[in-house]
Amino acid sequence: MSILIKNVLHHGKKTDVLIEKNRFAKISPRLEAPADKVINGEGKAIVPAFYNTHCHAAMSILRGYGDDKPLFAWLREDIWPIEARLTAADIYTASRLAVLEMIKSGTVFFADMYFFAEETMRAVKEMGIRAAVSLVEMDMFDPAQTTAKIAATKDFLAAENPCPERIVKGLSCHSVYTVSAELLEYASRTAADNNLFMQIHVSETAAENAECVEKYGVTPTARLDSFGLLTNKTMLAHAVHLSAADTETIRARGSFLSHNPVSNLKLNSGLFAFADLYAAMPDKITIGTDGASSNNNLSMIESVKTASLAAKLQAGSAVAGKAAEVYRAATVNGAAAFGLDAGEIREGALADCLLINMNHPFMVPAYNLVSDLVYAADSACITDVICDGRPVMENGHVDGEEEIVADARQLAEKILSL
Ligand SMILES: [Zn+2]
Repeated sequence: MSILIKNVLHHGKKTDVLIEKNRFAKISPRLEAPADKVINGEGKAIVPAFYNTHCHAAMSILRGYGDDKPLFAWLREDIWPIEARLTAADIYTASRLAVLEMIKSGTVFFADMYFFAEETMRAVKEMGIRAAVSLVEMDMFDPAQTTAKIAATKDFLAAENPCPERIVKGLSCHSVYTVSAELLEYASRTAADNNLFMQIHVSETAAENAECVEKYGVTPTARLDSFGLLTNKTMLAHAVHLSAADTETIRARGSFLSHNPVSNLKLNSGLFAFADLYAAMPDKITIGTDGASSNNNLSMIESVKTASLAAKLQAGSAVAGKAAEVYRAATVNGAAAFGLDAGEIREGALADCLLINMNHPFMVPAYNLVSDLVYAADSACITDVICDGRPVMENGHVDGEEEIVADARQLAEKILSL
């Protein structure tokens, strides 16, 4: 498929953008190229899409199910008991709701960690975006669960990838407080043998650090490193409570950090040291939403603003968390973390992009586009989303969205009756 976007603003100037197959082929004014589809970009700007580096997509169906509690109480009292009763079909319905929400807020990729991951892959394949999908390794130190998790992971990795052009399968370990040494060892070995992306929650709360130090005598980062789990394909989510030594280890291993500002603030987990960490590893800081039950949406456009505001509060400085820094973290850095040549509007790059309505009041008077996108815009400013060279949202509408919403409502009724 080819798409020609005419008269769209790019870096403040009107231009045409030609997409051929799944890449930006040519960016230049007055292009006269034949194309399967022509989009009138008049009054719109073309900008990179967002790459959400930490998510539990299907938790969208648990949005608002349990709120206003600290992490451990929330997980044990609300989330884990209800998750245990969700079926594969439920995860498919919930994943579709999540992907719909992500598209509508400008996200074309998410790194996911959940169960029934094959159902999430099915939703992603059908709806046209990208994902790095993994089953979550979590055995609660119960040997029977360790065996079951390893068997399930082997099956998951052996099964055919339904959409290798947009989906990559990976591995994830929930955290040091839910995964045994045996399972951490298995995950490390399997990731190394198969060159897989790895996702892990790390140092999300002060309590996690204290428990880890008491039990093992080391920080969560040091424990994960002792299993060889920190590599340049590892995404560490949260990383709110890192010591100077932890930061140095992560930097030396080339691992990535996923900053989840909304989830951290809502669960009062603490403030990610954005300014210092960005200064230490500017290419490695990315942004995620976490699941919609701790956020309570999957909007990256909301998360970039919150990341900036939280950075200023954490550093006690208005200079911290500059718009351009959080924007880079949410676009180019997030894409690069998962090996995608994307996150910028550039000839040769993967054709993922958003069209922004420059007549929306939030986008006027438009002195500085990045500032407006980070501090002023919300999802309502996004009119079109293109992923891998194909439109996934046109003029604010996603194919099948009414059915997705109706199905999710029906599932919510079932959940309330459980
Ligand atoms: Zn998470």
